Amino acid sequence: TMRDNGRLKIAIQKSGRLADMSLKLLEKCGISLAKSRDQLLCMADNFPLDVFLVRDDDIPAFLATNVCQLGILGQNALLEQQANENGKYAELKEVMALGYGKCRLSIAVPNDFDYKDITSLSGKTIATSYRGLLAKYLAEKNVSADIVTMQGAVEVAPRTHLADVICDLVSTGNTLKSNGLRETDIVMQSQAVVIKNEIKDVEINSICEKLIARLRAVLRAEN
Ligand code: ATP
Ligand code: ZN
Repeated sequence: TMRDNGRLKIAIQKSGRLADMSLKLLEKCGISLAKSRDQLLCMADNFPLDVFLVRDDDIPAFLATNVCQLGILGQNALLEQQANENGKYAELKEVMALGYGKCRLSIAVPNDFDYKDITSLSGKTIATSYRGLLAKYLAEKNVSADIVTMQGAVEVAPRTHLADVICDLVSTGNTLKSNGLRETDIVMQSQAVVIKNEIKDVEINSICEKLIARLRAVLRAEN
């Protein structure tokens, strides 16, 4: 079957902020991909590798079920799912940071919000797509607040009175600015990373080691 065709499987984002860089990175490793990128699957024709093009959120599940052995996603996405899924993804390990997809998970408040320090958030409602990471951060700071989970458009939550403040991914800060928000706390810094499951198959593991060595060489050459 496809599952055990003797080839390493890697899951990368199909479209979005990490998609182009992740495909490019594989190409820089000398891997030539046969199928067009609108398919679920690309097969390398000069290396025993199959590339699954999926939603970034689904990547931990692809690895946990061993459909894929490697994945590329934001640290934020991995740590959020690890914070939520009761140990289900504990065996997924970060192999290397890739230097792209850099962003931070930050708390931001409306410009007219009276913010002194993190305790100003106590009793407030915070909108986020990162409930697990935010809850951990607030617990560490001994702040008790209500978290409302949103799938997207988190930055409009204060204007619609869905929440007092937000916790969202920020790179330039332009989105915050144009929504009348200012960044107050960094919950975590993030970038794209390679993650790996516990590979049991010796052959697959040695293919994986080869790919990781190529990835390291590419990053070394770039830095
Ligand atoms: P998908 O359709 O795969 O679910 P998505 O909309 O969840 O995509 P993207 O917006 O493409 O995800 O973001 C993917 C990753 O890019 C984020 O998880 C994060 O690691 C990184 N990233 C870098 N900068 C930003 C930013 N300013 N906003 C959001 N994500 C960013
Ligand atoms: Zn996503």
